[in-house]
Amino acid sequence: MNRRNFLKTGFLGAMIATSPISLSALDSTTRTINRPGRLNLSFRPYELKLLHSFNLARSQRTTTPGVQVEIEYDGLIGYGEASMPPYLGENIASVSQFLSNLNLGQFSDPFRVEEILDYIDNVAPNNRAAKASVDIALHDLLGKIMKQPWYKIWGLNPELAPNTSYTISYDADPKEMEKKIEETAPFKIIKVKMGLDHDKEIVETFRKFSNVPICVDANQGWNNKEKALDMCHWLAERGCIFVEQPMDKMAIDDTAWLRERSPLPIIADEFLQRLPDVKRAAGAYDGINIKLMKSTGMHEAYKMAVLAKALGLKVMLGCMTETSCAVSAASQLSPMVDWADLDGNLLIANDIFDGMKVIDGKVTIPDRPGIGVIPR
Ligand code: MG
Repeated sequence: MNRRNFLKTGFLGAMIATSPISLSALDSTTRTINRPGRLNLSFRPYELKLLHSFNLARSQRTTTPGVQVEIEYDGLIGYGEASMPPYLGENIASVSQFLSNLNLGQFSDPFRVEEILDYIDNVAPNNRAAKASVDIALHDLLGKIMKQPWYKIWGLNPELAPNTSYTISYDADPKEMEKKIEETAPFKIIKVKMGLDHDKEIVETFRKFSNVPICVDANQGWNNKEKALDMCHWLAERGCIFVEQPMDKMAIDDTAWLRERSPLPIIADEFLQRLPDVKRAAGAYDGINIKLMKSTGMHEAYKMAVLAKALGLKVMLGCMTETSCAVSAASQLSPMVDWADLDGNLLIANDIFDGMKVIDGKVTIPDRPGIGVIPR
């Protein structure tokens, strides 16, 4: 969808809005009052359609609700996005409500990032994806003003961007399963979702077709530490390089027990969200999975990566199902991390941005200012 259609069909919460707006009212409203020399925020819902239904240990779905955001400042536009997989507790109504309550028009200098993001963070607790959408749009805008991509502003070498994993999930139909495996061909590392009844079957099936290293995401699905340890040993013998969130996020002592014994690094995902959680993770995990929709965006994600490295933790960079907007924003940080899981844009059928590419399995950061995206 082009920009004109975005404005025409989109509903818009201009940041000048101060009173709560109902979703139905927003659906029929388009306001484009842009004040010069001020930050002007607009947004609209955008449902992401998944190429394959997504089977997790605790859920299955074919769409993910999203909200697309723009921040306009003196003719330049920064793009941002909120993606809200249901288990994180946000939805289109909550994100729209949060964004409607923001008054970004009070800011005339977009470079006051700490001030602007502090303000946003204090409008309401939680709402991490909503906060991320504004953070990403602000970073895109700033990069465009500076005419530089964020990896350069952060002093990172794009050649050091890692390969990204690509996720396959189990399918009971062997033909479908084979098709899913074929689609993994360009990738140098494959992520296997586990914690279902077919954990070993999916790896054994995959190994009939491919020797590519795998990583495993149990999504809290292994319900006791002995089983988790057995799985770690079994997986280590089958080309697995790390295990993500093996057990319930509350099972901290059991996870620490597992880490002591596991031949594979244990990575925290559901366990942690934001910067203060990184230090907690160091007590029970070998590494952390940073995602912009958890961290409230790029600013805090960068701080989390720096802190994690200082604490000797491995860093993984993940995403939700997202368009190339949020995935490209995350890719800017990728040269800092050990592992990337940035396949969210590849899993949807209706991407509205051109941005980060996976070339020969590797995260390839767009050579464009800001987060590096252009609307399709
Ligand atoms: Mg995960």
